[in-house]
Amino acid sequence: MAVRGYFRSPYHDEPWIESHLDIRDREGNHLPGYGWIFPKHNHLNVGVFSIYPTRSIQSDFRRFMSWYRILDKPSDVRYLGFSIPWKNTRQEFQRDNILLVGDAAGFAESFYGEGIYFALKSAVIAAKALSASFDRPRDKEFTRLVKAELHADLLYSELNARMFYPIQGFGFYRMVRSQHVNYYFSELIAGGVGHKECFYKTLLTSPYWLFSNHLTPYSGDRF
Ligand SMILES: Cc1cc2nc3c(=O)[nH]c(=O)nc-3n(C[C@H](O)[C@H](O)[C@H](O)COP(=O)(O)OP(=O)(O)OC[C@H]3O[C@@H](n4cnc5c(N)ncnc54)[C@H](O)[C@@H]3O)c2cc1C
Repeated sequence: MAVRGYFRSPYHDEPWIESHLDIRDREGNHLPGYGWIFPKHNHLNVGVFSIYPTRSIQSDFRRFMSWYRILDKPSDVRYLGFSIPWKNTRQEFQRDNILLVGDAAGFAESFYGEGIYFALKSAVIAAKALSASFDRPRDKEFTRLVKAELHADLLYSELNARMFYPIQGFGFYRMVRSQHVNYYFSELIAGGVGHKECFYKTLLTSPYWLFSNHLTPYSGDRF
């Protein structure tokens, strides 16, 4: 589930905005998800993502905004929100002459809730499957290709989410501040590291980031 707002702000042309973008409930407990603030054109793009379905996403979003001085009293706010389908529990991607791609097939990854790459990639796979077996839908070529080309990323993104979100307070404190872990998870977004590599490298380097004193300093300030 994700909700996002766009609004005009004097901070729209900042080169970057840096913060600890965790989301919390009313009591201050970490919620499984994260928030974002992107400067873009003449506005800020602000939002929150929750890995689990939640009825409180709008209040989580308002609470997130209320923590940041730069998000105070926004004008011209335009809100958008929708569920992010990160799991196709039935593992059914095609029937007769119908192929499901993108969100319709449940192809969003679980850690960041990103679905654009998977929507585009599954469309490419659908085109490949159609050109290979257009008149033989019973061959289930599309399903075979989805399992071969998408399944590992989706599975390991779920494992990354299951590793991080249940210990999110600790995760933000230690994993995000570890240069190694931070690098792997940032590169996931940039496309430099796959979900599987990120999962295993984070696990294999755990003695280092669990016990190291070399953590990026964090003042706890919200700007
Ligand atoms: C708030 C929010 C923030 C997000 N941020 C990110 C992000 O930063 N990065 C990322 O990778 N993913 C993000 N996602 C997820 C991403 O938007 C989706 O996973 C992705 O857009 C899925 O693409 P799609 O083509 O499958 O579906 P969609 O983008 O939903 O496209 C489906 C299209 O079909 C149209 N449609 C529906 N019904 C009909 C009909 N009957 N006839 C004709 N047209 C129809 C819809 O209007 C829509 O245009 C975010 C999602 C949300 C809700």
